Amino acid sequence: MTSSSSQLQLLAPISGVMFPIEQVPDPVFAQKMVGDGISIDPTSNVLCAPLTGKVTQLHSSKHAVTVTAANGVEVLMHIGLDTVMMKGNGFTALVKEGDIVDAGQPLIEFEMDKVAMKAVSLLTQIVITNGELVSSYQPATGLVIAGKDVALTLTLAEGVETVAAASIGGEAWSDPVRIPNPTGLHARPAAVLSNAAKTYKSDVKLVRQGEEANAKSVVAIMGLEVKNGDEIRVRAHGPDAQDAVKALVDLLNSGCGEDVGAIPVPKHKPAPLDTIKPAKAKPKSDNPNVLTGVSASPGLAVGNVFQIKLEEIQVAEQGENQQVERRRLDEALKEAHVELEALKSEISDASKAEIFAAHQELLQDPDLLDIAIAAISNGKSAGFAWREAYTKHAELLSKLKNEVLAGRANDLRDVGRRVLRLITGTKEAELQVPNNAILIAEELTPSDTASMDRTKVLGFCTTGGGATSHVAILARSLGIPAICGIDEDVLALANGTPVILDGSKGTLRKNPSDAEIADIVERQAKLASKRAQEMAAAFEDAVTKDGHQVEVVANIGGLEDAQESVKLGGEGVGLLRSEFLYLERTDAPTEDEQTQIYGDIARALGNDRTLVVRTLDVGGDKPLPYLPMPVEENPFLGVRGVRLCLEEPEILHTQVRAILRAAGDVKLAIMFPMITSLEEVREVKRIVAEEKAALGISNDVQVGIMVEVPATAVMAEQFAREVDFFSIGTNDLTQYTLAMDRGHPKLAKQADAMHPGVLNLINMTVKGAHAHGKWVGVCGGIASDPMAVPLLLGIGVDELSVSVPTIPAIKALVRTLSKAECEKLAAEVLQLGTAAEVRERLSRLID
Ligand code: PEP
Ligand code: MG
Repeated sequence: MTSSSSQLQLLAPISGVMFPIEQVPDPVFAQKMVGDGISIDPTSNVLCAPLTGKVTQLHSSKHAVTVTAANGVEVLMHIGLDTVMMKGNGFTALVKEGDIVDAGQPLIEFEMDKVAMKAVSLLTQIVITNGELVSSYQPATGLVIAGKDVALTLTLAEGVETVAAASIGGEAWSDPVRIPNPTGLHARPAAVLSNAAKTYKSDVKLVRQGEEANAKSVVAIMGLEVKNGDEIRVRAHGPDAQDAVKALVDLLNSGCGEDVGAIPVPKHKPAPLDTIKPAKAKPKSDNPNVLTGVSASPGLAVGNVFQIKLEEIQVAEQGENQQVERRRLDEALKEAHVELEALKSEISDASKAEIFAAHQELLQDPDLLDIAIAAISNGKSAGFAWREAYTKHAELLSKLKNEVLAGRANDLRDVGRRVLRLITGTKEAELQVPNNAILIAEELTPSDTASMDRTKVLGFCTTGGGATSHVAILARSLGIPAICGIDEDVLALANGTPVILDGSKGTLRKNPSDAEIADIVERQAKLASKRAQEMAAAFEDAVTKDGHQVEVVANIGGLEDAQESVKLGGEGVGLLRSEFLYLERTDAPTEDEQTQIYGDIARALGNDRTLVVRTLDVGGDKPLPYLPMPVEENPFLGVRGVRLCLEEPEILHTQVRAILRAAGDVKLAIMFPMITSLEEVREVKRIVAEEKAALGISNDVQVGIMVEVPATAVMAEQFAREVDFFSIGTNDLTQYTLAMDRGHPKLAKQADAMHPGVLNLINMTVKGAHAHGKWVGVCGGIASDPMAVPLLLGIGVDELSVSVPTIPAIKALVRTLSKAECEKLAAEVLQLGTAAEVRERLSRLID
């Protein structure tokens, strides 16, 4: 069904030739006693819905069916003449009364030969039975194809809506809503939606292609596995059905609390954002002493295995009486709520505390409660009934293809067991975790993880779960090294077995030799004491022994990184990868949104630190769902970085305006990525000047460029005349200099920034900048590499923009160096012939 102003178009419900209804050899239709409409002489044997609506009547002989549209227009379709006599013989209904059907959906199939033999005629009539809603009818002519061609256009009477939530007999349903959330209706939007649905008395359902879920149940909504771009309907039944449908449709369109904006209409249809990850095969190691899994939380731990097996909580199947059991359930649910409130307050990180807020939501889930209460009514005990309810739903969730949603089964089991424990009065056996324990379990729950005794537990491995599970998220925030989805052989390890857990690599090494363990323990101790010293001096300047100061600033991806960088002694931000604002959403961030976030980040840095905002750096290698980009054979050599922004100038204008507006009372600079030509520099500077003038801003926002393309490094002098600063993006400069894709599975290792070719380009860039009094930073990965730091200092780099965690170490390293010695080193290294020679020479400096 499509609609325009006050018209409603009906698709041909059956393929065939249009026939004037006035000439149908049956006065009931010809004289329009049932209603005005059309007739089709069929060439196909399947009758389809001419519009989206509800099957409000299906004749028992299956030869006639009525579909009522959302605005109340009723369309009766009648296959053949006098076919009622056939009493259904030869007709098969493919839908039932009450079904919501889409335009073009098959409704009735019939045996053409049989009907043709027995019926007076095969002519099929399509008539509007409530003609008062229609002011005129425009039938098509000639051949029409079912579900494709428009067979009849209705002009609707005044006041009849073309699309609306409809209500028939207390039931209302919506037109399909396309889900804008990038990762579909996952736990958070599902919770927002179910909470809204619960405010209505009506029974509310989400419907997708015949599947239904209770919209008041977060578990049921997640079970529907609604993905980005899926079309779903809202259906409600009850006293406030219309209002419920309208409100929930609005909520779905707005993203259910997620910032999704309007669904863009792309010029080229982008590839769907497929959030379903293929199930990962459990990794197996070739080394029998190494068990592998997925890195869930980084870090190294040396300890002894401690297996955790949850004891099953015993429950009697039969209950005492319904009232007693119901009270037990209600009290346990209330108590669980209180326990979770306490757990939430123990977690300082609000976003992690939300995990337990979601658990509280599950305690009120109507689907779970319905099952449990129904079982209690059937004489089961509260414990038995509740266990049935949550295990059944957890089982369903765990089978979902979407890894993230499947991971929520563990949350449900966690909260389910909490309630079960309270119902049965079972105390979770106090686990006597020994010191230096590496916990091993099939599954740990978020509650287990949050309450781990960090003085005893050094790390953990689970055979279930993945990096996106709540357990993994909590482990990362608590700084506990962890592996999920590890080889199941781990469950056979005896308690006390010595192991080395490498959370970063996702490996557990069993039976290490005493010497290996001693070595790691010693290395850890040394590292810890070095870290402590670096941290103690983190706020001191990075000044070489001979008095040369280098700025050590941070590469960041958002506000949290900025805050962390300040805590670690960062002296500003040399690279804000502004892409973070643009990714994982369905439309570009607005100017106001950007102004706010750039301002927030700059304010988090304080008055003395500068924030360098790199403008949007995406392209074929990092596509955006709302920015159509043609598929390119070589995306790294294609429309990337500033090239893309100049092709989509509105995006760039918006971002530049936002940066300029945010720069009011804070120190901000703009940096453009992937600059290759002076024309590009002039164009972006023109845009900055234009927006400055338009905004009436006169502040001195510095304009710099990233040097990532060899041509720009070679022409550094020419560029330096026209910009305020350079920042060398060695990640890209390396790939373009060596003609090796930085992510290439085979070549990436050789794409080494220590290649003398790259180093000499860095040198040329610095010389070119200094010749014109401009400063140069390095923000590629090489700046965070302690081996490269003396060389970069020797070359004369003014600023090192490094990954946040390395700030204290890089500052400490600078303090151990002498600029004069670094210069000698650089002169020597720039003459070397291979990256291996460079590394060998530099490694001699490291203890
Ligand atoms: C670089 O190319 O070195 C750089 C810092 O930019 P990105 O890694 O974001 O491409
Ligand atoms: Mg780059």
